[in-house]
Amino acid sequence: KQPPSRKGSMHDLPQNLLQQIKDFEDVFTVDRQLLKKIVAHFVKELEKGLSVEGGNIPMNVTWVMGFPDGNEQGTFLALDMGGTNLRVCEITLTDKKGAFDITQSKYRMPEELKTGTAEELWEYIADCLQQFIESHHEEENLTKLPLGFTFSYPATQEYIDHGILQRWTKGFDIDGVEGQDVVPPLEAILQKRGLPIKVAALINDTTGTMIASAYTDPEMKIGCIFGTGVNAAYMENVGSVPKIAHLNLDPELPIAINCEYGAFDNERVQAFEKMTAGLYLGEIFRLALVDLVDNKPGLIFNGQDVSKLRKPYILDASFLAKIEEDPYENLSETYDLFVRELGIHPTEPELELSRRLAELIGTRAARLSACGVAAICTKKNIESCHVGADGSVFTKYPHFKARGAQALREILDWKPEEKDKVVIMAAEDGSGVGAALIAALTLKRVKAGNL
Ligand code: BGC
Ligand code: MG
Repeated sequence: KQPPSRKGSMHDLPQNLLQQIKDFEDVFTVDRQLLKKIVAHFVKELEKGLSVEGGNIPMNVTWVMGFPDGNEQGTFLALDMGGTNLRVCEITLTDKKGAFDITQSKYRMPEELKTGTAEELWEYIADCLQQFIESHHEEENLTKLPLGFTFSYPATQEYIDHGILQRWTKGFDIDGVEGQDVVPPLEAILQKRGLPIKVAALINDTTGTMIASAYTDPEMKIGCIFGTGVNAAYMENVGSVPKIAHLNLDPELPIAINCEYGAFDNERVQAFEKMTAGLYLGEIFRLALVDLVDNKPGLIFNGQDVSKLRKPYILDASFLAKIEEDPYENLSETYDLFVRELGIHPTEPELELSRRLAELIGTRAARLSACGVAAICTKKNIESCHVGADGSVFTKYPHFKARGAQALREILDWKPEEKDKVVIMAAEDGSGVGAALIAALTLKRVKAGNL
């Protein structure tokens, strides 16, 4: 079968499909007014999260107490337990300001591990660390290396080198870890294997991103991840965090807050994350099409085998990214994608509808993502700053940056001739360099006898 050719504009579509596109537009469009309303609500939710009573957004205290000054030094290990890969790095912060050397290895994170047992997880992590140490270190070098562990899930931290997992996100579901401190089992297995490693800090990827970016750019105030999951961290003052008031710390001290704002609107369970993060974009698209197949008989995919389309999570964000990137007038790449991934041969109007649906989902994700950043800036009265961002959606999804920037302009009311004041830009390596810096800052504080 040849891909149908896309003739002219959308008005050539049958009336019922045009109507359907319009319905999608109504559902997925977040206009300026709604953006502003969301941000106003978001600011209140951030505040609530800092209060003693708490709210939906965890606003986790990270015990990262301030930005690096560029003069940090030492050699550190960093471990990043991401969704797809496990990365181990050795970072040396050199005596040159803002400079570092890095050696790293990536290990694939087996899919089964995400829903396996806690023991399997720790064994796997220890295997990777052991392999790394054995290939990069001489036997006799047995001084303990401090490790920054980037564990990008919501954790309650009473100390920087501890963290109780609040709940798994991003499709992880390993029994017996939620509600537990994740550091002791890691340290136990390192000790069992005689590995010369000491966990110095447990870090969220957003905090690492903020700190790594601030190492080289003093304008950096916020770290964001737009990837498999979404989240941000920013620097608060101790005095603005009522839930730690009982500790009687100096209210002027800076302290990084890991917002965990994927939980925004959590009456609907991690709803913000589900509308914005890479893990879910393909699934939204799939669900929208399945809904048409089931509830509007005859509208799309007549006589086609839709069994693959019924499989949850069969489509990832790259499927939508490719549709949005399809350069051909006749959407022939989109056609090929449907055939290859779903065994469906769409008609020309169905291709048009799919392209528009992908655009709407991608645009909503980018515009909502901007709301989190705008909410932090509003809460902190930040008029202008740089925001360090990382994650697969930010780096790879077409138009995401431009759409997000446009939404910020609408929310923050910059005049058309004004340059953007809050600029979201590609971050430095948060889970490598950021983790090392946080470990360094922590050791410096311990040495100085602070906290
Ligand atoms: C996690 C956060 C993380 C974000 C980005 C979310 O699902 O809960 O801790 O920062 O994903 O990786
Ligand atoms: Mg990551």
